[in-house]
Amino acid sequence: MADDRNPGRVVLPGGTIGIVGGGQLGRMFALEARRMGYRVVVLDPAADAPAAQVADEHVHAPFADPAAMRALAARSDVITLEWENADVATLRDIERIVPIRPGPGVLEVAQHRVREKETARSLGILTAGFRAVSTRQELREALREIGTPAVLKTARFGYDGKGQAVIRNAADAHAAFGAVAGGEESAELILEEWVRFTLEVSVVCARGIDGAIACFPVAENVHQDAILDVSIVPARVTGAVADEARRVAETMARGLDVVGLLAVEMFVGADGRVRMNEVAPRPHNSGHYTLEATPVSQFEQQLRAVCGLPLGSTGLLRPAAMANLMGEHAGTALHRPGALGALAVPTTALHLYGKAEARPGRKMGHLTSLGDTPEEALERVTRARDLLSAGG
Ligand code: AMP
Repeated sequence: MADDRNPGRVVLPGGTIGIVGGGQLGRMFALEARRMGYRVVVLDPAADAPAAQVADEHVHAPFADPAAMRALAARSDVITLEWENADVATLRDIERIVPIRPGPGVLEVAQHRVREKETARSLGILTAGFRAVSTRQELREALREIGTPAVLKTARFGYDGKGQAVIRNAADAHAAFGAVAGGEESAELILEEWVRFTLEVSVVCARGIDGAIACFPVAENVHQDAILDVSIVPARVTGAVADEARRVAETMARGLDVVGLLAVEMFVGADGRVRMNEVAPRPHNSGHYTLEATPVSQFEQQLRAVCGLPLGSTGLLRPAAMANLMGEHAGTALHRPGALGALAVPTTALHLYGKAEARPGRKMGHLTSLGDTPEEALERVTRARDLLSAGG
């Protein structure tokens, strides 16, 4: 459906956006896109995928199916993604049919922790010390250079702490390799120095077709078992640290030539130094607060960026805090009317993703609260989540 009369490749309301991935990020994107008059087609293997429930059309097929990707392309004026592990070669193929924003080159970097950190370093951005590792012998050598504690991770397909093992001393190396390499004797891994951070932060940055950049405020992130638990905005860091976090995000977005969103996760050290941890070329869990707390949400901003519309305002309207609702919080409790007492907590908004089965560790939804200070927002969202998970 590419239009030769539109060399700027702007996609106007009424146009169709294809999304690779049908999870909650795609769902919130689709709701925003439909509000702005766009049609949405979702590619996802699950029949009841959260985004497919609210999309105009669902290409119901595995991500690795090139025919399905072509079917998505044939229905779309532009393709974007909410899941970055799509096959890069297939995307390069369909890029000839329809623009993909962000492009496959961005995914190639974002899919691989070694490339991510090499790119950051080549752009003058600090990261934890790291070594690419593929065998037990290479792990022993890398440990001699990096020291302990360290963390061994799969270079690809890692998320929410999956595919990771902490190595506290050299004696742990054998077991860590076995666990992370999945029983293989050779695998694409990365050994990272253990960063003694005081805080984790993230920035969601948008970049338009014309190279314009707009960053959302810096979020302070608290993880539980390596899964995001709570985000607090603005992050309680000095102005200099916040400026540096935004500079890192902008530098990565420009350096990778992103069109769309780039979420950048970082560690802040006791010395105030900011180290990039990883990037995701899509909306991010730590940016959900933008649905209530900034004039334009990260999802609308993604739409604006990939459609070639002007980027929207990103200034914080009020301090905010977001708490994830995991299977363990939002399972049976939600079916008890008392749980919705959580919504009596002032300023609190509930988002549920339409997932039928509540498994522990599965992201079912989130709550966002606002306040006059980040502390007030955090107190409210924590209270609301406690009420909700207790079932009232
Ligand atoms: P990741 O999958 O890289 O985002 O890691 C998940 C979480 O594990 C991070 O948010 C940190 O809390 C922790 N983590 C990961 N890598 C490191 C590291 N090199 N040093 C210290 N903590 C880490």
